[in-house]
Amino acid sequence: MIPVKDFKREVLIWAEKIGVKPKEIHVRPMTKKWASCSSRGRLSFSYEVLNKPSTERARIIIHELLHLRYPRHNKMFKCVLTAYLTRLVREN
Ligand SMILES: [Zn+2]
Repeated sequence: MIPVKDFKREVLIWAEKIGVKPKEIHVRPMTKKWASCSSRGRLSFSYEVLNKPSTERARIIIHELLHLRYPRHNKMFKCVLTAYLTRLVREN
């Protein structure tokens, strides 16, 4: 499990790579999903995410950050997400 502080830093590093600016980053208990993104740019992540291996965390972080640019799971969202994940796999 990584500390919340370190996790938030990871989110910010990815945000910079992707070129988005989350207004707030929260880590809190969530029962039904790993993360969510409000229309105002507020990201929430489940505490459970802190227990995940770094590649899994990155997948969840990238997915949520992309919602700041593409609110819905449309074709563009999926296309860009796949591009980032492919890069992620190559870098690790
Ligand atoms: Zn989503």
